[in-house]
Amino acid sequence: MTELTRRAALAGVAATTLMPLSMTPARANAPQADKQAPSFYRYNVGTHQITVVCDGVTVVSRPDNYVANASKDEVSKVFADNYMPADKATQSYSPIVVNTGSKLVVIDTGLGPTNFEQSKGRVGQFQTNLAAAGIDRNSVDTVIISHFHGDHINGLLAADNKSAYPNAEIMVPSAEWKFWMDDGEMSKGTGNPILEGNFKNARRVFDALGRKVTQYDAGKEIAPGITSVASPGHTPGHTSYIVASGSDKLLVQVDITAGAAFLFVKNPDWQLLFDVDKPLAVQTRRKLYDMAIAEKMPIQAFHAGFPGHVRVEKDGNGYRWVPALWNTSL
Ligand SMILES: [Zn+2]
Repeated sequence: MTELTRRAALAGVAATTLMPLSMTPARANAPQADKQAPSFYRYNVGTHQITVVCDGVTVVSRPDNYVANASKDEVSKVFADNYMPADKATQSYSPIVVNTGSKLVVIDTGLGPTNFEQSKGRVGQFQTNLAAAGIDRNSVDTVIISHFHGDHINGLLAADNKSAYPNAEIMVPSAEWKFWMDDGEMSKGTGNPILEGNFKNARRVFDALGRKVTQYDAGKEIAPGITSVASPGHTPGHTSYIVASGSDKLLVQVDITAGAAFLFVKNPDWQLLFDVDKPLAVQTRRKLYDMAIAEKMPIQAFHAGFPGHVRVEKDGNGYRWVPALWNTSL
């Protein structure tokens, strides 16, 4: 034994001997937790309040063409560089609620109760986390849908297949409705399993609601302080939003970068398998990010992890996200 370890050992003995009984260390036999705290997070934009309500995270097997114009190895490397499983796609989902002061507005609804059950609660958490945040879905005035992919519309329905927001006006982009609800467009998508699945799913959800929706156009104030911004490419009517109150502004980017979104922040020219018009999605992505940078506008991103409140900066030929500091008070 070296002098140092001998002294340390003696000091240890002395400390134990001198410790009063009341200070006996706790035994490590308390049960370990099997779930996280409910995930919701609030911040203010002027007098509007944003509540980000997590819908969950998935780690799914990744098709080789997950990025249409990059090799499987190139994509695997970016996952590995970000300390995620290289052969999988890790994706997170974060819808938001905006309390404008006069209206309670939900923007997108997550993967819904069926996925909640099938995934044993890993995704489709929006409705339970909403309740945990103290927000009663019966008191929601407006639900704004950005586009018709399942992770944004499935949560329109509750577990009983009825409206999850029975007192809300459901607002959808008119360009999105025109595309996905059109039988001619649906028949053109035959043979493409991704498109086919999305056409069928949109009908399943909106038919359950009796197709009772209000269509809105881009470039309009569709709720107090919430303006729709045309962002086509990911889907034909994909829409982002600017939430403005006083001198504060927030860009709600939704799926400008989608799926494992960080891939497309670093490599904005990469084309996600699920982008319907891939070159247009790339163009829209650069346009909106350049606008956010020029206007120094913070971003709320649907697929940016939780809470997904970030700023975007130029980084070489691409961009990088800088997460906002986690605020413990409002
Ligand atoms: Zn999405």
